[in-house]
Amino acid sequence: MERFTGSFTQQEPIPEAAIAAAVAVMRSGRLHRYNTLGDDPGEAALLEQDFAAAMGAKYALAVASGGYALATALRAVGVKPGDRVLTNAFTLAPVPGAIASLGAVPVFVGVSEALTIDLDDLAAKADQAEVLLLSHMRGHICDMEALTALCRAHDLTLIEDCAHTMGARWNGVLSGRHGRVACYSTQTYKHLNSGEGGLLISDDADLMARAVMLSGSYMLYPRHLAAPDPAVFEAVKYDTPNISGRMDNLRAAILRPQLAQLTTQCAAWTARYRVVEAGLRETPGLRLIERPEAEEFVGSSIQFLLLDWSAEAIQAVLARCAARGVELKWFGGAEPSGFTSRYESWRYAPSAPMPASDRVLKAIVDMRLPLTFTLADCALIARIIRAEVLAVQQAGDGD
Ligand SMILES: *Cc1c(COP(=O)(O)O)cnc(C)c1O
Repeated sequence: MERFTGSFTQQEPIPEAAIAAAVAVMRSGRLHRYNTLGDDPGEAALLEQDFAAAMGAKYALAVASGGYALATALRAVGVKPGDRVLTNAFTLAPVPGAIASLGAVPVFVGVSEALTIDLDDLAAKADQAEVLLLSHMRGHICDMEALTALCRAHDLTLIEDCAHTMGARWNGVLSGRHGRVACYSTQTYKHLNSGEGGLLISDDADLMARAVMLSGSYMLYPRHLAAPDPAVFEAVKYDTPNISGRMDNLRAAILRPQLAQLTTQCAAWTARYRVVEAGLRETPGLRLIERPEAEEFVGSSIQFLLLDWSAEAIQAVLARCAARGVELKWFGGAEPSGFTSRYESWRYAPSAPMPASDRVLKAIVDMRLPLTFTLADCALIARIIRAEVLAVQQAGDGD
């Protein structure tokens, strides 16, 4: 019986050029982003310039984490304590957590069978809030023309959470370029790896000046290379609190050489995704998520549905795959576990049951595809999953 022996949590090493850049920062001792010398703008300011250029945005800001970027975006668009903010029911805990960190209240919007935000549910709830924090969860991008039309019709400010879509596109437009502001994570499991870190982009000068101040720029904002003109800060500098969450030069140094490789890395993820997808295709009882042609996704993880299976049968598949070295995550578990939790588990936020979404959530099986896996590894993983899904069904547990 075949067994997979790779690690689902093993990312690639940091590139040598990034290690060299990090060592140079450490030798200088100047790790704080504003601790710069002479004409050297520092790695953090250079990263912002590089990232703004890569995303085609006017402005970029590097911060301490993706979750911090989300909270900063919410504050910068003017969300206040007690405000309601629409967001996905299918996402990771830092998303509703960012809303709660402002004393604001998440309003959960359901998930479709395509694993994107349910646009009908969004339309039904749109008048409850002025802001939508849209999570492109696990890299699934909804119909962005329909979504932006809905936002316009209901006067919703769109913040994009692109933690899983850095480098992805919808109809040729980079993910993160549809909303007023977009947030990214550079935490180890995302598309760039600095351990922790976040980025934020926008074309809105006032919003970005606030975000820079919020991130803890003190009055040193003229040192940024991808921020609005210092004159814009005059209007916000007295009434924007410093909620310290800067990125340091060391992490920025690690990220810049990785950013230069982003397109290549994204293609490598998607090649792995396509091999797993092909290996799982037409497995009875297993539903793949068909990706729309408009979506140039980044296949850094893959999901499939065991729709209307019993919890016991799904758990049997997970256990049998785990015994053969294939680590699957399940979004349907009653209890939060590892990185995975459900909207009802976020009890600080009110939620009414969403039966159609619950049916989907209960069916979602999720797997990371680190770039340390070869294409042959991916084919093997798919064979194992396929065999175990069939075995559980033949044992009569599946239905
Ligand atoms: C990882 C993640 C975040 C938060 O990023 P951190 O850098 O870990 O704070 C936000 N949203 C989603 C969907 C994520 O996966």
